[in-house]
Amino acid sequence: MIEKIGIIGVGQMGTGIAQACILAGYDVFLHDASQEALQESLASLDRSLEKKVARNKLLIQDKEKAIARLKSVESLKEFQSCDLVLEAITENETAKKSLFKELIPHLSSQCLLASNTSSLSITALGHATDRPDKFMGMHFMNPVVVMPLVELVRGIETSTATFNAIGDVVKRLGKETAVSEDYPGFIINRILLPMINEAVYAIFEGVGTIEAIDKGMRLGTNQSMGPLELADLIGLDTCVSILEVLYKTRGDSKYKPCPLLVKYVEAGWLGRKTKQGFYDYKGEHPVPTYRRIHDLS
Ligand code: NAD
Repeated sequence: MIEKIGIIGVGQMGTGIAQACILAGYDVFLHDASQEALQESLASLDRSLEKKVARNKLLIQDKEKAIARLKSVESLKEFQSCDLVLEAITENETAKKSLFKELIPHLSSQCLLASNTSSLSITALGHATDRPDKFMGMHFMNPVVVMPLVELVRGIETSTATFNAIGDVVKRLGKETAVSEDYPGFIINRILLPMINEAVYAIFEGVGTIEAIDKGMRLGTNQSMGPLELADLIGLDTCVSILEVLYKTRGDSKYKPCPLLVKYVEAGWLGRKTKQGFYDYKGEHPVPTYRRIHDLS
């Protein structure tokens, strides 16, 4: 029975997952390599629950109980009592594998491990641990507190007991599941990322402006966000990492990240998390950032 959940990496995804878990009554241990990220995560969790209280969606006593279930920890040693540890660090295979190497000596033998990876092989990540049968993909959607789905991904060695136990956690979080085989990008990002990349090519080739592309896709295809707004929400660095995995593993040039998307990442314009991506978020309303070179003169 899973009662204590460890979350490693508390950027936008880890923080959202932590909120869903404490509201569902789990005890949650949070860890991040960056103390600043950890402090920001705790502050943003508090703000988010406070907003729910203000909107009468949560009783103040329940907010306090939820916050009391959170513990931020500096050392991975503190994960020894966890029943499940979920990794939500940066989308980088080497970093994730070396984190598991460091973490595993501190875990109980029964502890399940999950990764929120967007695209990396669950089988390969599981193989880098001492427990591939107790390892699987638990792919939350962004923003976690709003999105009703978790994509479940079984590695080749994931046991049915692990799959069922993680499925029960998702049910207790009040979310739905879609099950994907363990192939690059799984179901959702295999379909979503080529659309986002194509939207960036449409700017790059001068087919349309940022506003026209997003408005066209929002109103023309009934999506709640345009692909460029969504890319800014996901994080442009994460988009490039996912596309690179798809391109490398599938060998198909349709997945090659658009040079303009790469350029944004090179500039450190990563989307909402740096307050600048396809839109500038520093003012009251987002303002599109890209103008073609000849428009600048
Ligand atoms: P993010 O950049 O917002 O946060 C990543 C966090 O991981 C940072 O706080 C960083 O300090 C921390 N970190 C990096 N290396 C670490 C290490 N070795 N040990 C501990 N902490 C470490 O990223 P994110 O958008 O929250 O994405 C996290 C994961 O979730 C990635 O695998 C990503 O592919 C996946 N994901 C992202 C989205 C999305 O829309 N952004 C959606 C689903 C899944």
